[in-house]
Amino acid sequence: MKKYQHCILFLIDGARPDAFEQLLSTGKLPNIKRFILKNGSYRRIVTSFPSTTGPAYIPFLNGCYPGTADIPGIRWFDKEEYAKKDSNLNRFRSYMGWEALLLNRDLGDKKKTLFEIFNSSVNIFNPLTKGIKPSGNLTRFTKILYYFYAHLTYHWQVPDLAARRYLKKAIHNPPEFTFVVFPAVDSFSHLNHPFSPKVMHCYRNVDQAVGEAARLLEKKKILDQTLLVITSDHGLTPTHTHLDLVRFLDENGYRALHYPKIFRANVRAAVMVSGNSMAHLYFKGEKDWRDSVFFEEFEKNHLFLLRRLLRRKEIDLVAIREKGGGIRIISKKGVSKIKREDGLISYNLIEGKDPFGYQRIPQRFSDYQCLELTYDSSYPDAPVQLLQIFSSKRCGDMVLSANKGYDLRKRFEWPEHKASHGSLHKEHMLVPLLINQKIKDQKIRTVDIFPSILKLMGKADNHEIDGKSFV
Ligand SMILES: [Zn+2]
Repeated sequence: MKKYQHCILFLIDGARPDAFEQLLSTGKLPNIKRFILKNGSYRRIVTSFPSTTGPAYIPFLNGCYPGTADIPGIRWFDKEEYAKKDSNLNRFRSYMGWEALLLNRDLGDKKKTLFEIFNSSVNIFNPLTKGIKPSGNLTRFTKILYYFYAHLTYHWQVPDLAARRYLKKAIHNPPEFTFVVFPAVDSFSHLNHPFSPKVMHCYRNVDQAVGEAARLLEKKKILDQTLLVITSDHGLTPTHTHLDLVRFLDENGYRALHYPKIFRANVRAAVMVSGNSMAHLYFKGEKDWRDSVFFEEFEKNHLFLLRRLLRRKEIDLVAIREKGGGIRIISKKGVSKIKREDGLISYNLIEGKDPFGYQRIPQRFSDYQCLELTYDSSYPDAPVQLLQIFSSKRCGDMVLSANKGYDLRKRFEWPEHKASHGSLHKEHMLVPLLINQKIKDQKIRTVDIFPSILKLMGKADNHEIDGKSFV
């Protein structure tokens, strides 16, 4: 297999594969076609749940799921830490504000990032910078300025254009690994629509970035030694209605802590929304916050809340941990159960129709079979994705996934989101993968990109991770 000396990973935040395919088929991405796809491959691959910026970046950098990394959302709550009643920093988190500075610290030292594995790296606009040398983090001082300016003025093309400039600068003295994020597709989608002209223009800007980078690499005679990868962390769907989940809980007698009101007193619940189509709900146990609230207790003491949630048109899927380690999936259609047993996944329909609409799915399968079996469904890889998120101690007692067209955060979201992501729907979970290397015909997750890059770059892949190489 061909070994590369350099790798550039282009991350288009919020890129939908169908938008990519539309632009490719109409000749609007000539540089990507020429420099990446001519001798390379294109695939629709599955991201990690929650399909949201931040948690869904983790797989690219260390090959692990957000659940494994204990960062199960862009906002999370830690019941055990909250029960301690002191003011430690680990009780709750939102990476949407100043607490984004804690992302690297939260990631911990257990898993190595690509920045730690490669001898030289450059980072552009990615918030997850654990292990990079300060001089390689080209946007360490300017990211906050670019993002703040774009947030206030809606000129998200400005950081995308800056990403192109930074990339050219990086190639002057090419490092082994470059990670460059283009944030505008996600931001313009939230402001308008995932297929708005402004959004579609952003894809063409990335195409120009690829062209500029490839030509510079060609000049340096290292283009054929450079692995070029384009991917994304999530898709998006248009949103017309927002459910005020906090108000819903308050009105049902579950006064809830939430961002920005993290110091609310006498709370019985906590709401942490990501994307904004998914949410973790945490409930105070019978004695204190330390206790998990399992499905069995919901059935006994909180059945009315569960029923009211399921009656809401905004709510698609409710997932709740069971006492014995299983996860109960409940939708308006029916109930199923997922459990990890002897290294395999057991899947059982409990009541009504399958909540994911899966047909002829066996009762036991491996993680990889799960991807194959569910890849073409409306909820690709949902059993594995729910198991991984519930493996985090910071996961909610209950996880909600919203219906398309709706999201779960109303007040405190400025500007209003006209598109959302975060859920288990295929429109949020499928992302494009473009790579200038022929790859095997198999189903792929974003966690598989990390070990594949290592293999193609001739680095030892002895890391304990969730992904497996697709080359
Ligand atoms: Zn977003």
